[in-house]
Amino acid sequence: MHPIEPASLSGPLIISAALTGSWTAKSQNPAVPITEEEIAGAAVEAWKAGAAIVHLHVRDEQGKVTCDPGRYAKARDLIRLAGSDVIINMSTGGGAGQTTDEERLAPVALAPELASLDCGSLNFGSQVFVNSPDFLLALSRRMLKHGVRPEIECFEPGHVWNALRLIDDGLLRPPYWFQFVLGVRGGSPPTVKQLVHLVELLPPGAHWSVCGIGRAQLPLGLAAMAMGGHVRTGLEDNLYYRKGELATNEQLVARLVRIAGEIGRPVATPAETRGMLGLSARNPVAATQGSGPS
Ligand code: ZN
Repeated sequence: MHPIEPASLSGPLIISAALTGSWTAKSQNPAVPITEEEIAGAAVEAWKAGAAIVHLHVRDEQGKVTCDPGRYAKARDLIRLAGSDVIINMSTGGGAGQTTDEERLAPVALAPELASLDCGSLNFGSQVFVNSPDFLLALSRRMLKHGVRPEIECFEPGHVWNALRLIDDGLLRPPYWFQFVLGVRGGSPPTVKQLVHLVELLPPGAHWSVCGIGRAQLPLGLAAMAMGGHVRTGLEDNLYYRKGELATNEQLVARLVRIAGEIGRPVATPAETRGMLGLSARNPVAATQGSGPS
């Protein structure tokens, strides 16, 4: 089935919450989580509101982005200790120009269920976000080794083309999970026309989601919901609930849940999302709390 098919218009909606990112600061919005405790707290609130996936970055003592696996593991464990089975997606993005390729590969060894794979380079605001061909090979091989499902992040159509090459080479395997990031300065503009074009490039059966940056977040999310796709929200991509009013992660998720109800898209639970994305059915809460798989 091609990713745009009528059957998907009433299918379950996967909501991802990108809680903090690598650049946002409390000075911009006090609800931006920085410490592992704050990140885990925001993750649990987003999950209770309806998010099936939380996309994590972690920060150091100064609030600057880091790829430290120890901090990722701590955030993960706090989420599980709170009893949440939300799917954890660890970013391998680092910060453009701030982290080395080796540092970015490190969290994959924690074997998160999902990790981001930024599928090409681009200008990123005033920075350059480098994802070289060698890095894409190393990252996709590392994810295969640790059984991590890549979230294939595409900022423009060339990135989808890179992904198709990795698929041909056997380095990305189905079911595919694409995240279109639209509205970064240097990537594709955040328009419905661009989104339709990107979706048309996908291989049959691929699952896809969109995150629009800033004020594009909600309208592009609505377009994706109407096209049978999935949606990412959260403070990494957008700090505002509406013009002049700061948001929380929980508020942004709750709004999507309400809209999904109005248009007849049931919100996917983490368990349903695991089924769709081919993730392990093992209960991660029980595993972390030492009572073994259930
Ligand atoms: Zn991110």
